[in-house]
Amino acid sequence: MIIGVLKEVHPGETRCALIPSSVDRLVKKGAQISVEAGLGSTIGVTDSEYQKAGATIDSRTNILKNADMVLRLRKPPVEEVALLKKDSIHISFLDPFNEKGLVAELAKNNISALSMEMIPRSTRAQKMDALSSQANLAGYVTVVLSAERLPKIFPMLMTPAGTIQPARVFIIGAGVAGLQAIATAKRLGARVEAFDTRPVVKEQVQSLGAKFVEIDLGETGQTAQGYAKALTPEQIKKQQDGMAKVCTQSDVVITTAQLFGRKAPVLLNKEMIAQMKPGSIIVDMAVETGGNVEGSKVNEEVITDNGVRIIGLGNLPGKVAVHASQMYSANLHNLIEEYWDKDAKAFKLNIEDEIIKGALITHQGAVVNEMVKNIK
Ligand code: NAD
Repeated sequence: MIIGVLKEVHPGETRCALIPSSVDRLVKKGAQISVEAGLGSTIGVTDSEYQKAGATIDSRTNILKNADMVLRLRKPPVEEVALLKKDSIHISFLDPFNEKGLVAELAKNNISALSMEMIPRSTRAQKMDALSSQANLAGYVTVVLSAERLPKIFPMLMTPAGTIQPARVFIIGAGVAGLQAIATAKRLGARVEAFDTRPVVKEQVQSLGAKFVEIDLGETGQTAQGYAKALTPEQIKKQQDGMAKVCTQSDVVITTAQLFGRKAPVLLNKEMIAQMKPGSIIVDMAVETGGNVEGSKVNEEVITDNGVRIIGLGNLPGKVAVHASQMYSANLHNLIEEYWDKDAKAFKLNIEDEIIKGALITHQGAVVNEMVKNIK
């Protein structure tokens, strides 16, 4: 089986899908790996390191034409789909809820497309969960970014020149990214508070040494996959009222609230931001999915009239591309190894398997994923 790995073409993308140690593992299992020339250039990995690990270096055109399985990180450009080998397997993030045209094209060209966003949240699938591996790093980056931009330090300092109070950090949304943000801010010495609509999160927040902000929203709950459910407009209003005072007192507010497959909820409005202290920082981690913060802009830092800096930088895991690539690459080799047929020396697409069933979007000329089929 030829597994081809393509360079990322999205502007500014610094991560890459597979690193040499994963190549080595898969080659030892009998895979033939072809990587596009220059694949690791953005993370300081040379073609000869891939060759040493057992890969051959090839052109993009050849890989698209010959590979039985194509790996990449971002969704494929729609014009490349028709160039893929018929009946080949394609694994990447796909954004299938928003990419109807791309999904239709993959089906039309008989590609079996696995979407990394759709890997189920089960214990067995944890090692393949790229949403989590990348969110974890993004959470870290939000804190490091805000610590650098804040005109204050994070820890408490008691010196002959006086006492400095610790920075106050408020994290909204305590999922994978939010919990890492809490842990990172605590390590830097900040006083951390957090809120999430899923009640199960309270204990996790407290176990990291942060304070959980109590806001009674009535029934909230979570889906079977552990994702938050959308709030009613009345609940959002209650949440905003409950958070307003904490925001006013905070030096840094980091928002990570997402609703799987839907637009992110707007949680910080202009009135709340107008009450915040000059020099304080907001990082909107949801900026690429619609934004949690009124006025945030993708890939921009906006300074409001009252001197609050709203950071809306996209692709946060890309800021730590070496480790982001390492983790994504491990997610991929774990996925491939899980379904590797030793005798056939090939990946077996077992469509009855729960993980494959969850992540397979198109197969044999059709859209097969129930959730994606049902998008209106
Ligand atoms: P996510 O990225 O979809 O959302 C981030 C967070 O935003 C979530 O915690 C969500 O509850 C929160 N949120 C949504 N609306 C909000 C609002 N109005 N106000 C405040 N917060 C809001 O979620 P995620 O981080 O990818 O995962 C969510 C949970 O799933 C995690 O806490 C984790 O426990 C669980 N999980 C389980 C597995 C597994 O079992 N294999 C793997 C990954 C994650």
